[in-house]
Amino acid sequence: MNIEKDFVMKNEDIIYFDNAATTFKPISVINKEMEYLTKYTANSHRGDYNISFKVDDEIDESRYLVSKYINSKSKDEIIFTSNTTDSMNLVINGFFGEYLREDDEVILTKSEHASNILPWLVLSKKIGFKIKYAPLDKEGKLSLESIKKTITRNTKAISIAHVTNVIGDIRDIKTITKYAHKKGILVLIDGAQSVPHIKTDVQDLDIDFLAFSAHKMCGPTGLGILYGKYELLKYMKPFKYGGGMNEIYNENTIELDDIPYRFEAGTPNVSAIIAFSETIKYLNKIGIENIERTEKYLKHYLIKELKTIPYIKIYNENSEGSIVLINIDGIESGDLGLYLNTKNICVRSGKHCVKMLEEEAEFKDTVRISLYFYNSYEEIDKLILALKDFDNIKKYVNL
Ligand code: PLP
Repeated sequence: MNIEKDFVMKNEDIIYFDNAATTFKPISVINKEMEYLTKYTANSHRGDYNISFKVDDEIDESRYLVSKYINSKSKDEIIFTSNTTDSMNLVINGFFGEYLREDDEVILTKSEHASNILPWLVLSKKIGFKIKYAPLDKEGKLSLESIKKTITRNTKAISIAHVTNVIGDIRDIKTITKYAHKKGILVLIDGAQSVPHIKTDVQDLDIDFLAFSAHKMCGPTGLGILYGKYELLKYMKPFKYGGGMNEIYNENTIELDDIPYRFEAGTPNVSAIIAFSETIKYLNKIGIENIERTEKYLKHYLIKELKTIPYIKIYNENSEGSIVLINIDGIESGDLGLYLNTKNICVRSGKHCVKMLEEEAEFKDTVRISLYFYNSYEEIDKLILALKDFDNIKKYVNL
């Protein structure tokens, strides 16, 4: 393992701390995508010739590796979509759109990403079910107690992130699913920020549905995954109809293909799916425990160094994930982000697609520094140096 060699983007003259948005891809993943594009470009499920058979085999292999990575019972429980957002829309409409009735209730939190709120809001307008937000504590964290207090007889689903993308807190999913299942409540987990960073064993956590994106875990863009328990997927309706998802059809009937293919209408993102197998192999080689540990050390160091700068406000010191939120009093987060850009440091500023959180949190806009295992202490030192240069910051923002 050689981070500089594996990640060619690390050779660019930039310091990348926007890993919650997307991540760099190792060269093995890039090469695999290139191999498909230059040596066996073909569609899947369609051809009667060798390169198309190879494509089908490799897609199958990728599905198998993803299944092993999250420890699902079967690879048929893995559905390829285009991103977390697409996975969430599929399960919320395709499953919960059929399952929920007018009197039902769904629990979310105000800390959820837009893709775990907007599809629910739209569906609730159609069906009439109620959305309830489990209150967060002072640090923006979610407790089982809060969920317990929000649950009523009518609660049918809980839909929350395992790790949130602003505060970066890690929820105790195993305890939550255990409690929810005792009450007959289904649990949908937004894994966009968890699967890339922490061990995710869907059987151990007893998750009913899990959505995540390949591009946030060293995989190609344009590929998402929806995991669902097979017995639940049997009741899910496709959200898209077209080629590759039906057995036969005529004017009166549509016979669907098997699970998971019935949920994958149209030509899939073949190159991304095939290359994602290399991502899984790469992450397996490093080991998720090493990823977790490295990020923990980096974050600890980052917070320790940030604390040496008196005018930096840190909002989420006690969150468990690899995200740190900061601001400087009197300076717009967007301006601070743009100042850091002048030093070739990439961070994200604003609300980070979580626009209801400000109703409960003590902050509105922030600068988000999100780490991944390939970041280094030297990169953090350069960020700290840039933040310590208060005269320059003031000059940049016309203070
Ligand atoms: N959920 C969370 C918690 C996220 O952080 C993100 C992206 O930042 C998403 C969902 C949406 O992911 P995508 O844009 O890949 O669909």
